[in-house]
Amino acid sequence: MAVNPKKHEMPAQKAEVRAHNFEEVALGYSPEIALEEAARCLNCKNSPCVEGCPVNIRIPDFIARMKEGDWEGAYQIISRSSSLPAVCGRVCPQETQCESHCTLLTRAKMDPVGIGRLERFAADWHNDHAEGSAVKPEPNGHRVAVVGAGPSGLTCAGDLAKKGYKVTVYEALHTAGGVLVYGIPEFRLPKRIVAREVDTLKELGVDVETNVIIGKTLTIDELFEAGFEAVFIGTGAGLPNFMNIPGEALKGVYSANEFLTRSNLMKAYREDPVTPIMKGGYVAVVGGGNVAMDAARTALRLGAEKVYIIYRRSMEELPARREEVEHAEEEGIEFHLLCNPTEILGFENPENPRDPRNGFVTGIRCVRMELGEPDASGRRRPVVIPGSEFELHVDTVVMAIGTSPNPLIKNTTEGLEVNRRGGIIVTEEGLTSRANVYAGGDAVTGAATVISAMGAGKVAAKAIDEQLRRQS
Ligand code: FAD
Ligand code: SF4
Repeated sequence: MAVNPKKHEMPAQKAEVRAHNFEEVALGYSPEIALEEAARCLNCKNSPCVEGCPVNIRIPDFIARMKEGDWEGAYQIISRSSSLPAVCGRVCPQETQCESHCTLLTRAKMDPVGIGRLERFAADWHNDHAEGSAVKPEPNGHRVAVVGAGPSGLTCAGDLAKKGYKVTVYEALHTAGGVLVYGIPEFRLPKRIVAREVDTLKELGVDVETNVIIGKTLTIDELFEAGFEAVFIGTGAGLPNFMNIPGEALKGVYSANEFLTRSNLMKAYREDPVTPIMKGGYVAVVGGGNVAMDAARTALRLGAEKVYIIYRRSMEELPARREEVEHAEEEGIEFHLLCNPTEILGFENPENPRDPRNGFVTGIRCVRMELGEPDASGRRRPVVIPGSEFELHVDTVVMAIGTSPNPLIKNTTEGLEVNRRGGIIVTEEGLTSRANVYAGGDAVTGAATVISAMGAGKVAAKAIDEQLRRQS
């Protein structure tokens, strides 16, 4: 039977409707579409797609189950390798991971199988039909503390809990989920999906203590004094970077983290929010990653009249997921590519220092760039075009140019070594320079991906288990 060369489209809310609401954009496959998409898989013997998956999900095996309509069987295969499949099916950059290795693409130059979309379908089906199915394992008597309830911490906690460890997760914020709840917006990843995954962990016996900042409320050393035998640090990279250009202290300049946290976690998008946030006007978002796309599309939904993405390279180098870029363009976000800000402009009335408009953003000055020779990252280096300055009128600027690990735990944990970017130094097993202290995810690598953070949580859970078995 001939294979359909095209991947089945993901049903989605119409651009003109979704640009004004926070509901999920991508609606998910129907069972009929899932069956047809699964039928495109060739079940290749060498499974190249598996190599492209950072946690090596047995992709052909789960798709084979889907071909038979065995959705729960497919989910069970996926969940052996991934503890957050409903999340990964939605946010993984599949086009650069599993799908980029798919034989349909590499050999036949067709669309790859929609692996992520099928994963999402199986996970959603399970979540809708298999309420409370987690089986609490026999306790093994050992206690482990996990710091941070993002994907790395939750994965580490889940894997250890399944082996019988008593795990307590300490989270600084009032909700578990890390970037999945405070960063990635509802229209891309509904919070109920993350809450469901956290509930599954609780069913396994994991305790989640929110509003506890390790390094302030308690230190890593105090966790050991309290009887924990190992600690996993999965504190992410939540410290925003700025460009250090004039005007970044003006009113109306946000880091993307602050902007998204205000909207996502503090519900600033509601009619009567306790947390203030800009609503309306012209907005410039600086950066080209997923964070920039999320901030731009959030600004639009909050009521901005115009939203610009300002990115210093070209569309080809834009690091955000393709689907998010396409969705942003469809929604009317304007891309200023090969541009870089040099100054944020503000209002100043020299005659009246009490003028309420003083200190507020009025615009952004940029220069145009062209691409030169490749730099250390292999991407062509953007070079300023002299005399190309221009200004855009904006009321708000959101900086989405990357984040770094927060130094709090390093500063309060003697002997914990970090690299020059603030990432915790670990061995291949995730062991830090301190005995029985492990780390993984963005806290180690700097800002990366959900699946790589989960992979690191898995590796560390295995190493902690082996270490504590050796010790007992
Ligand atoms: P985090 O998710 O950052 O979680 C760390 C947790 O630790 C947080 O909850 C934090 O509050 C807590 N914490 C920090 N310090 C302490 C402390 N001292 N004590 C207690 N708790 C503490 N990746 C993708 O793969 N696809 C995407 O589409 C995507 N989109 C993104 C969009 C945005 C807006 C952002 C910001 C990131 C995005 N990413 C995406 C990246 C991805 O979300 C991260 O790589 C991933 O969440 C890292 O997981 P983590 O567990 O290491 O850290
Ligand atoms: Fe199926 Fe593509 Fe994986 Fe082959 S490479 S098994 S066609 S998903």
